[in-house]
Amino acid sequence: PRTIHQIQSGQVIVDLCSVVKELVENSVDAGATSIEVRFKNQGLDTIEVQDNGFGISPENYETLALKHYTSKLSTYSDLSTLQTFGFRGEALSSLCALSKFWVTTCLASDAPKGSKLEFATSGKLQSTSVIASQKGTTVSVEGLFHNLPVRRRELERNIKREWNRVIGVLNKYACILTGVKFSVSQQPTKGKKVVLFSTKGNNTTRDNIVNVFGAKTVTVLVPLDLQLELEPTSAPSQLRSAQEDRDAKEILVRGHVSRPAHGDGRQTPDRQMFFVNGRPCALPQFAKVFNEVYKSYNSSQSPFIFADIQLDTHMYDVNVSPDKRTIMLHDQTRMLDNLREALVRLFEAQDY
Ligand code: ADP
Ligand code: MG
Repeated sequence: PRTIHQIQSGQVIVDLCSVVKELVENSVDAGATSIEVRFKNQGLDTIEVQDNGFGISPENYETLALKHYTSKLSTYSDLSTLQTFGFRGEALSSLCALSKFWVTTCLASDAPKGSKLEFATSGKLQSTSVIASQKGTTVSVEGLFHNLPVRRRELERNIKREWNRVIGVLNKYACILTGVKFSVSQQPTKGKKVVLFSTKGNNTTRDNIVNVFGAKTVTVLVPLDLQLELEPTSAPSQLRSAQEDRDAKEILVRGHVSRPAHGDGRQTPDRQMFFVNGRPCALPQFAKVFNEVYKSYNSSQSPFIFADIQLDTHMYDVNVSPDKRTIMLHDQTRMLDNLREALVRLFEAQDY
């Protein structure tokens, strides 16, 4: 059974990036306004995420890292209107199976006394001890994949590429999370801890982008605030179901994009960020439309793109892959056509 648990865990936590993503999303789900991500040796030694969220109640300590334990989903119908990032209860149980893993946590009412929780590979709670702590939770992961030698060697071999992906995904969270102080640090095996970037709990994504990418990047951006109207289905209204009426809602594309005259040089994926309702995700077809329209104005450069597609939760599925990275948008072709037209209108209205 333990082997099976490890194999399955390897599907949720496939790489360094998924560890980071799961832990940050748990902190967001916990209502944190401050999230600190700390790496030692680029995560090969430890990955630690500290937040000031609501913490974990003692009655949940035992079940916390057991498979399919989640405090976020009360009924199955919640899945379609999900507001939290997490809902499967697989991340912590997987991390137990794949690393040395511990948690310190503290409820507001218990501060300055918190608990340190240590878990066995199976996810069973092994020990609880009292420690000094402020409100919030810190999750620590040491020696990721130490018990899957092939996966571990692969991680070490590809650490440079993995690290770039990790930074890319952290940039996205830092920029999209308004009202959250977000900081990322790395400490080499021999050497001092370095803060790589941090935001200040800004109220706008624009200010976050300044903190993460520098003031120079934003001066050449135009605000994106596009409305993509999806026409109601061709059936006369009295024949349409309530579901279809909901589906006829508008879609907003909000964020920032380079002015046509001030592109970004070479196209780099880390400077083209897409979100669906605030969830970072890869939307290659959307990226393609942005780049194509942009190219018709400036063929020598690529745009910086920060775009949050805001739409009704009934218009997409996130529940398609274990790591939740894939999002299926319904009626995507029509969305993309409308996006193309809206972008042309936006760029036409600029003095480039
Ligand atoms: P999920 O996020 O899908 O519920 P996880 O395995 O990621 O599953 O986490 C399991 C549970 O642990 C969560 O439902 C939540 O109750 C608790 N938890 C995890 N991280 C935190 C955190 N940073 N703050 C508060 N509770 C947390
Ligand atoms: Mg989670």
